[in-house]
Amino acid sequence: MNSLTLRTPDDWHLHFRDGDMLQETVPATARCFKRAIVMPNLTPPVVNAELATAYEQRILSARPEGSDFSPLMTIYLTDNTTPEVVRAAKEAGVIAAKLYPAGATTNSDSGVTALSNLDATLEAMADIGMLLLVHGEVTSPDIDIFDREKAFIDSHLKAITTNFPKLKVVLEHITTKDSTDFVMAASENVAATITPQHLLLNRNDLLVGGIKPHNYCLPVLKRNTHQAALRAAVASGTHKIFLGTDSAPHEKHKKESACGCAGCYSAWSAIELYAQVFEDLGVLDKLEAFASEHGPKFYGLPLNEGTIELVNESWQIPENIALPNGDNIVPFFGGQTINWKLKP
Ligand SMILES: [Zn+2]
Repeated sequence: MNSLTLRTPDDWHLHFRDGDMLQETVPATARCFKRAIVMPNLTPPVVNAELATAYEQRILSARPEGSDFSPLMTIYLTDNTTPEVVRAAKEAGVIAAKLYPAGATTNSDSGVTALSNLDATLEAMADIGMLLLVHGEVTSPDIDIFDREKAFIDSHLKAITTNFPKLKVVLEHITTKDSTDFVMAASENVAATITPQHLLLNRNDLLVGGIKPHNYCLPVLKRNTHQAALRAAVASGTHKIFLGTDSAPHEKHKKESACGCAGCYSAWSAIELYAQVFEDLGVLDKLEAFASEHGPKFYGLPLNEGTIELVNESWQIPENIALPNGDNIVPFFGGQTINWKLKP
């Protein structure tokens, strides 16, 4: 196959960051995605309608000339998010709220310390049709980092989905067979996203032959049997799993550090990398539904009308991207050659 035309895809999990960084991240995503669910973990976090609307304006101002890209805004749940806060957010166009267990990942220190603090809020979200997006990892120091996703499902997610059956829940960036099994067995109100890195890599790619800081993200890459389960899940074509890059830039010096930050900046190659995975799996015919249909259907949004074209042509992902502030980012898969390329 020499080229592939897809309904314009959306990215259902993305970090744009803020400030100058938007000049880099917004064009990178807008080059092929029509919409993206924008994560609210700024400092300070986006916790209400007012902050979400202001952030949305900053994103819109960073769009390239002529772009019709639309950010889909979210708010960040804290112990103090009341039903009134989510109702006001919904009225302002916010479509989802993100649950970060306190301390789970980048800028999550204001996250929720006890889910029982949020019962009334989750009930209100179910009532008004606001989705719950979950970073599904426990943070207790006694739980091994490789087991934190499964522990979250067992100790929290099963209860959330049982107690709030009408609430639509997306388990973000799943990394384990436990998660694919959970999502497939759960109700139609439970879905998941998967990143390119968790489909392409396993923990050997992080730790064998020297530590690879640019493959470090959270949830951390797991063993190859989990990677195989994720690949099998997308190959099955299930409507419960869809595209969410979790593209999450950090400056090079913050990744290549004694205490390196978590996150892979995949926006410049994400759709191409997914195409490579689907090609490897022999299911290129299932890429369009994964990238462009399952997500909007789950969120209750219209499908995009335009198309993008990918051509079967080798190219090298740049090793370095210069930022407006003079810093640099090493993009995910930087320096590597891949087979699919977005036609401009
Ligand atoms: Zn994320």
